[in-house]
Amino acid sequence: MTYLIISDIHANLEALEAVLAAAGPYDQALVLGDLVGYGADPNGVISRVRALPSATFIRGNHDKAAINLASIEHFNHLARFAIQWTADQLTPDSRDWLAALPVGPLAIDDLVEICHGAPFDEDAYIFDDLDVRRAMAAATRPLCLFGHTHVPAAFRLVGEPHHVGPPRTDRFTLHLEPASRYLVNCGAVGQPRDGDSRAAFALLDTSVRTLTIRRVPYDLPAAQNKIIAAGLPEVLAHRLALGR
Ligand code: ZN
Repeated sequence: MTYLIISDIHANLEALEAVLAAAGPYDQALVLGDLVGYGADPNGVISRVRALPSATFIRGNHDKAAINLASIEHFNHLARFAIQWTADQLTPDSRDWLAALPVGPLAIDDLVEICHGAPFDEDAYIFDDLDVRRAMAAATRPLCLFGHTHVPAAFRLVGEPHHVGPPRTDRFTLHLEPASRYLVNCGAVGQPRDGDSRAAFALLDTSVRTLTIRRVPYDLPAAQNKIIAAGLPEVLAHRLALGR
């Protein structure tokens, strides 16, 4: 079984198209939430992922906020502006579809589970050692995939959790050892925040137990121009080029 793992698309259709083109064949897509928010193509991204032949979804905090399922009290002013803009743009069909997205964590098979923030709380961020320990304790599968931070990171638990990657590279492959447990963020498709502007995604091949995180360039100027033309804050366009 080959899974395509995509998270935090954030209404960036150009980044999503580049990822789908680079991914090659796979059996099932796992989409870890935050389809909308920040970018200029919320309905376009929703239509594109809904048309994928086989995909499993969970919701992210921006998906909830865009349809008033969650408060935007904790959003900064940029995220808040973008969410209000997104809410105005969503078609009734897109809204209904977002409202029906499952809540993570979600077990996919005996090896994998997915969540947006953390397996103990869909809105929590996994950044430090304490977060990692808590998440590892809550995970119900050997490989727990998460998003939300927009920063690729892989941790392996052998006694203590160890950070095992990824380095700054086009392609990082993790070989999943049978007796180990892993917590992995495969990065963000539509708004990377690790200083690399390229879209991030991953492919998991369960037959050989490899998880490969990849980066691909996309039509960044097109995505930026749409953000500016939409009247969204220009900083949302600039940050894409910085990967911040
Ligand atoms: Zn996000």
